[in-house]
Amino acid sequence: MIRIGQAGIPLSCKGRTNKDGLVYTKKILDLNAMEVQFVRGLYIMEDEEAQFMKDYSKENDVELHVHAPYYINLAGVDEELDLSYEKILFSARAADKMGAKTVVAHPGYYGEQTQRKTMKKIIKNTKKLLGIFKKEKIKTRLGIETMGKQKVFGSLDEIIEICDSVKDIVPIIGIGHIHARTNGGLKKREDFEEIFKKLKPLKLKHYLIHVTGVLYENGNEYYHVPIKKCDMPLAPLIDVILDNNYNVTLISESPLLEHDAVYIRLQVEKSIMKRTGKEEADYRDLSEIL
Ligand SMILES: [Zn+2]
Repeated sequence: MIRIGQAGIPLSCKGRTNKDGLVYTKKILDLNAMEVQFVRGLYIMEDEEAQFMKDYSKENDVELHVHAPYYINLAGVDEELDLSYEKILFSARAADKMGAKTVVAHPGYYGEQTQRKTMKKIIKNTKKLLGIFKKEKIKTRLGIETMGKQKVFGSLDEIIEICDSVKDIVPIIGIGHIHARTNGGLKKREDFEEIFKKLKPLKLKHYLIHVTGVLYENGNEYYHVPIKKCDMPLAPLIDVILDNNYNVTLISESPLLEHDAVYIRLQVEKSIMKRTGKEEADYRDLSEIL
């Protein structure tokens, strides 16, 4: 199954609440996923709003995810670590109320520590965090995202090691970030196949993939750009997904948000049409090509 959506309230949506964004995602864009962004500090979500998100997304088959605030350091100490827990827990509680599948968090920074020490700390601290999830009966799973800068913890291999060491954590595959960190490493079909090959031991039933173009230099991401403005092609990724029937959710994190989500959709449908030989396709219906 392929789900497609965008990170946050669509830019072209007049109403600026998450409720407006969700309805717009379904009714106007005809997409079936949305990642609610708690990235600009701590945002209060009223119970009534959370309940609406839960009911509407369920009735209309829109899959929800949540992104916790960007600045998180699970390799930090004292106040910085406490604040990181707080940001993730705040987002996770809201995510759980909304019935969201995943709460996405960034892992943290090496700082002056070695890579191994950073790894150990993040493993220890995520275990502790998941203990709190369990105590609070939070059913939303915790996702840790790959990061696009050398100084920031979060290469694909590092994220996989965390997920391998801590039960119940899932990797969030930021393909733009991976592309930047590997200094433009995602160009051909084999490059994308390699990602799934590395993930295979985790036996995931679903992949949450963030899609954006990136501007990068020397293995460091500067900022997100529209998908078409980047030298990372989308078609080989879509081919790999369709050929293997991977169960994925593709979330556009591009500055064009929903416009690029719709672009992803068109690319998926083009790829389906190529296989069926027909002149139309629906990204939600893969029955003819499986
Ligand atoms: Zn992120």
